[in-house]
Amino acid sequence: SVRDPAIDIIKNRLSNVKHKILILSGKGGVGKSTVTSLLGHALAGTNPDINVGVLDADICGPSQPRLLGVRGEQVHNSGSGWSPVYVTDNLSLMSIGFLLGSPDDAVIWRGPKKNGMIKQFLSEVDWGDLDFLLIDTPPGTSDEHLSAVQYLTEAGLSGAVVVTSPQEVALLDVRKELQFCQKVGVRVLGVIENMSLFICPNCSSRSEIFPATTGGAPQMCSDLHVPLLGSLPLDPILARCCDDGRDFLQELPNSPAVTALKDIVHKI
Ligand code: ADP
Repeated sequence: SVRDPAIDIIKNRLSNVKHKILILSGKGGVGKSTVTSLLGHALAGTNPDINVGVLDADICGPSQPRLLGVRGEQVHNSGSGWSPVYVTDNLSLMSIGFLLGSPDDAVIWRGPKKNGMIKQFLSEVDWGDLDFLLIDTPPGTSDEHLSAVQYLTEAGLSGAVVVTSPQEVALLDVRKELQFCQKVGVRVLGVIENMSLFICPNCSSRSEIFPATTGGAPQMCSDLHVPLLGSLPLDPILARCCDDGRDFLQELPNSPAVTALKDIVHKI
C-alpha cells in the first residue's frame, strides 16, 4: 500500500514536542476532558519553562475552550500553520471549538471527515517547542483513535493516560480501552480514577459514592498490570471552576484534588 504522506509531515511537525500523550476514556462523562485540562494546568504549573499544549481532538464535543477559559478566541493561520490559543504563557490550546461558528454548533461528520480533521490538526498546528502535548480524544475506540495512533506512533507517541470513574460500567469499558492500547501497541502510562471519593467541604468526611466498586480501579490496574497514577475526588468546587474556565489549581491549591494532581504529574 502507498504510504500516507501525512505521516512524514506530522512526524516533522511534532519533532519539537518531547512527550506526546493521548488521553483516553472508555465512556463519556467520566471526566476525561476535565482531567485533561487539569493536567494541562498542573504540568504547566510545575515550572514556567515547561511548555504544555492541549489538542482538543474530541471532534464531536470540543469542551477545552470552555474548560480552559478561552471560549470565543480566534485562531489564526499564519505561513507556518495554525497558531494555538495561549491560556497562559506556557499553556496553549488548539480545538475544533475555535473553528466552529457558534459554541453550540454540533459537528456531525462521518468518519473520513473526522479522520481528515485529526490529520489536519496533527500536521498543521504550529506548537513551537513543547515539553508535553496532551491529546484529548473522543470516548471509546473509534476510527479516529486508530488514525491518531497510526500518525502519532510514527511521530513518537509516549503513551496513553486512561481516565475512568469508579462505577462498574465505566470499569468494564476501560478494560476494553486498555485492551485496545495493547492491540495497537500504545504504552499505557497509567490510569486515573476520577470522582473516586466525595470529601465534604464542610466537615471533611469522606464518602464513597459508589461503594460497590470501591477498589475496582486499583484491582483492575493490578489485574492488567498497568500503573494507577492516582485518584481524584469528586469536588463540586472543581466542577464549578472548570465550568467557568477558571484554574482550579490556583483557586484551591491545598485541596485534596490538587494534591492528587501534583502527585500524578510527577509520575507522567
Ligand atoms: P468526559 O470528557 O469524560 O465526557 P467531562 O470532563 O465533560 O467528562 O466531565 C463530565 C462532568 O463531570 C462535568 O460536568 C464535570 O464538571 C464533572 N466532573 C468531572 N470530574 C469531576 C470531579 N473530579 N469533581 C466534580 N465534578 C467533576
